Amino acid sequence: MTKYSRLIFFGPPGAGKGTQAKTLSQECGIPHIATGDILRNAIAQQTAVGQKAQSYVNNGDLVPDEILAALVRDRLQQPDAQSGWILDGFPRTLNQAEFLDQLLSELNSAYDLVIYLDVPDEILIQRLLGRGRKDDTKDTIRHRLDVFHGQTEPLIQFYQQENRFLQVDGNQPLPQVTERIKTAMQEGQ
Ligand code: ADP
Repeated sequence: MTKYSRLIFFGPPGAGKGTQAKTLSQECGIPHIATGDILRNAIAQQTAVGQKAQSYVNNGDLVPDEILAALVRDRLQQPDAQSGWILDGFPRTLNQAEFLDQLLSELNSAYDLVIYLDVPDEILIQRLLGRGRKDDTKDTIRHRLDVFHGQTEPLIQFYQQENRFLQVDGNQPLPQVTERIKTAMQEGQ
């Protein structure tokens, strides 16, 4: 049993959020809620949300906040999310972070820990070029990094004001990153 089971993961594209979240989700039995995965699924199935999100995702732009807000509101109310969750890729803007605070208080819930995975841009570019997803072209990667620095990085300050913030060096072997996060989940920072 871990002490903390409501986690927010954020960091630049390619930082390893998805990989870490998947591992911890399996080991700890907590659902992994990855907004990027949900959007890619919606696009593949051409749902109404998918059709709206498609051009944003393919261009590496942020999908409008109201689409994400509805999606996260719905997902956090599913039965499997009642005893914990790992949010991966949301929030990504200050507006989304404020929305999440409000949503959690409405749902009489709260997050336990925010984990920021820090990796330098040069390493991220190499990793993403190696991954080869549809939005992993050179120009789109550069753009997503700019979006991260402009829109998502301010979340560091937003969450740092609380003492439930953990910055982890994501430029080290995967198991080491997992261990660092697990320690924090078990003991607090
Ligand atoms: P990565 O972090 O590696 O770029 P993700 O799978 O988290 O990949 O996100 C892929 C794309 O999905 C983003 O570039 C964006 O277009 C969209 N997306 C995911 N989460 C959000 C969000 N919280 N707000 C807006 N757009 C999002």
